[in-house]
Amino acid sequence: MKNLFILLLASITLISNAQIRCGTEAHTLELIEQYPDYAKAKAKVNTETENWIATHNVAKLPEIISIPVVVHVVWNTTAENISDARVFEQIEILNNDFRRTNIDVINTPSIWQGIADDCEIEFCLATTDPNGDATTGIDRVNTTQTSFGMSGDPVMSVSSGGAAPWSQDDYLNIWVCDLGSGLLGYASPPSAWSNPTDGVVIGYKYFGLTGNNGGAYRYGRTATHEVGHWLNLEHLWGAWGSCGNDQVADTPKQEIENYGCPAFPLHPNACSTTNANGDMFMNYMDYTNDACMNLFTTGQKTRMISAINQYRSNHLTQTICNGPTNIIDVLPTDKKLVKIVDVLGRIIFKPKTNTPLFYIYDDGSVEKKIILE
Ligand code: ZN
Ligand code: CA
Repeated sequence: MKNLFILLLASITLISNAQIRCGTEAHTLELIEQYPDYAKAKAKVNTETENWIATHNVAKLPEIISIPVVVHVVWNTTAENISDARVFEQIEILNNDFRRTNIDVINTPSIWQGIADDCEIEFCLATTDPNGDATTGIDRVNTTQTSFGMSGDPVMSVSSGGAAPWSQDDYLNIWVCDLGSGLLGYASPPSAWSNPTDGVVIGYKYFGLTGNNGGAYRYGRTATHEVGHWLNLEHLWGAWGSCGNDQVADTPKQEIENYGCPAFPLHPNACSTTNANGDMFMNYMDYTNDACMNLFTTGQKTRMISAINQYRSNHLTQTICNGPTNIIDVLPTDKKLVKIVDVLGRIIFKPKTNTPLFYIYDDGSVEKKIILE
């Protein structure tokens, strides 16, 4: 394990000028090295989760789970001091992706439409702070630090120029800062151990939409991916290596991460399987471009609901906020229209009025429009 940790750190150093999609595995290994109690608790998570799933029927749980969020904007330059509007946008992106109300659902290959699921998990900016006072759910901290690394979680401590977490049992803490080194974000997966670094950290360039200059990662799905980790999802290729097990039965076995915006099917029969459909590269837990991701599966939903019930159960009964923040329903417009299709996927050459149509763009994004008569 130790050698693997050094290898991971070395590979991060080697490509330090490039964008690094996710630091969660390296962060988890660092915690395992640092805290023996975490190593013990983490080793039990998969068995505890299997047991919970075997004794509960997730499909029959009636409630939508609403998770209160505090966003700590830790800024040095004005660009890092992102607007409230951008925070609202990010919350809505999370809600759309976790409720499967994202407008690019039609990009999910038809073979997987049946297992692409509404996770019935929502996010709301906290309206009550830990003292019981009213809050916007946005905590702004002006820092003298020009960037924060991942190791040791400096952004989570006031003494190192960061912002202290709010009760990690009661809130999803999201820190937004300059992570330096091209790292997009990282998260703390759950366990029965009380983790002082619990939460999600996202590079400010990749958070929200308006003014997001994250290149291929500019549609706010770094947060979707990292919150997936925070709710116990693994990468599709499993933890610590290739052709691994993500502990989810309905995601196909995959050799390693994918980048860019591949065409379907990709890597049929990977890892000596007979899976003609290949990798589920449009799943939020791969590394593909934001515009080319569009689903969580039923199996991933079950694992996340299980994680909340086992390790984050305060969210089942919280009164810190009242549901999702729905502000916007737009994507930026620096893209070219490829085609227009109707709800049955038929190409439309002359747009009809009073009927929903899907505008598909060359970056993989989709807009739903209705032209009113
Ligand atoms: Zn990841
Ligand atoms: Ca799987």
